[in-house]
Amino acid sequence: MVHVSDFLSDSASDGLKSSAADLPLLKVPLLIVGGGMVGLTLALMLGQKGLPVTLLEAVRYPEHFNDTPYYSSFDARNTALSRRTVQIFTDLGLWSELQEFATPIFQIHISEQGSFGKARLSADQEGLESFGQVIENAWLGRVLLAQVRASSLITLIDGVNVTHLTQDDQFATIQATKINSDGENEVFSVKTPALIAADGRDSFCRQALGVGVNEHDYEQVALVTTVQTSLPHEQQAFERFAPQGPLALLPLCGLNRRAIVWTVPKGTEQAWLGGENDQHFLDALQGAFANRAGRFEKTGKRFAYPLSQVLADRQVVGRVVLMGNAAHTLHPVAGQGFNLCIRDAQVLTQTLSHQAQAGRDLGEASVLKAYEQSRLTDQKRVIRFCDSIVRGFSNRNPLLRLARNTGLVAFDVIPGAKQLVANYAMGLKV
Ligand SMILES: Cc1cc2nc3c(=O)[nH]c(=O)nc-3n(C[C@H](O)[C@H](O)[C@H](O)COP(=O)(O)OP(=O)(O)OC[C@H]3O[C@@H](n4cnc5c(N)ncnc54)[C@H](O)[C@@H]3O)c2cc1C
Repeated sequence: MVHVSDFLSDSASDGLKSSAADLPLLKVPLLIVGGGMVGLTLALMLGQKGLPVTLLEAVRYPEHFNDTPYYSSFDARNTALSRRTVQIFTDLGLWSELQEFATPIFQIHISEQGSFGKARLSADQEGLESFGQVIENAWLGRVLLAQVRASSLITLIDGVNVTHLTQDDQFATIQATKINSDGENEVFSVKTPALIAADGRDSFCRQALGVGVNEHDYEQVALVTTVQTSLPHEQQAFERFAPQGPLALLPLCGLNRRAIVWTVPKGTEQAWLGGENDQHFLDALQGAFANRAGRFEKTGKRFAYPLSQVLADRQVVGRVVLMGNAAHTLHPVAGQGFNLCIRDAQVLTQTLSHQAQAGRDLGEASVLKAYEQSRLTDQKRVIRFCDSIVRGFSNRNPLLRLARNTGLVAFDVIPGAKQLVANYAMGLKV
């Protein structure tokens, strides 16, 4: 367990004397608030460039992940990683370990229930090794956390809640609370020239900075679970637009295991949750997919995630950069959210590394603003892409339905169309 006193003597931090309020005050070169999927990955990227990072995370992570796998970002979900994200994990030296619980996607089948249109994408035909890889978040979390703990350049302090954020010309300063082993609150402050807030969709840091959001509630909930089917998945993913909402069926480790992400109208999710609804859920999947995946034989526990799009009005304020879901939370329909965040993180890492090599201020506002500016085109395209898929396929207007059908058919036969979408959707050409 890490105590604030340990942190004060850590080599990555430069402990200062108490502030006026008599709180322990630490000074660190680079601070990340939020150690979810994005915060941990970013810390590893920065560490690889030789930058010392301090990472504060609200959840207390276990010392050893035994049979209690779900924490924070690392829950029952699975994430479709684009080829570019896989390359980034390879460059971090993590892919050989991650691969153990990752499954490649060789084919994608897109269709709408009750309609004739469909489209098929084959990695082979597009000249690709695969369209990407599906990984279990719980495993991703274990690997990232173990690597962060092993890094001499990263100081992870978990079980810490950041409750205040201010900044002046030279520093951003946070105040945080940690419950110690005696159950008492330890309050301390951290001062840094550059702070990255990766504290999720409801980001405390974003609110403390007074940054507004453009929020759209899709009035939908994603039901997430793992199922077993009688037919092997053969590394094929399905995106099916059912009347209840879009349904993704992704291949998982094991021949017949598949991940389900089913978007249903908000308020209807209770009918699918709970062990007593297992058969009802399996029957509904069977109805939606017919025999494409064989018989739906078993289902795991369902988890529900309310879906909204939350876009920060600004991603850089002075010395603070918003990152990950704190900057942009997207609908998961096209599996883009994490992949986009990782591209942001890669560019920010390059920016901060150049600053450090030049011996310049890591929190230089104009440089951070330039980072933000450089990311807007990619972000806007992905945001528009995800949002238009959800809105386009949610609409039951018969003319739109015909357009969708002919669109899917045309997509299946127009040369080059598939490659364009495959490259774009898998984050290869942005
Ligand atoms: C159902 C579903 C399926 C998805 N599938 C895909 C997919 O296939 N592909 C893809 O690319 N993306 C996918 N996504 C998106 C992806 O999950 C997100 O982009 C990603 O989880 C964002 O991670 P994050 O670290 O920014 O945020 P979070 O996971 O929310 O992590 C934020 C962290 O900050 C910590 N924190 C919060 N407040 C404080 C505080 N005050 N002090 C200290 N710490 C704090 C939290 O404890 C948490 O650990 C999916 C999303 C959903 C909902």
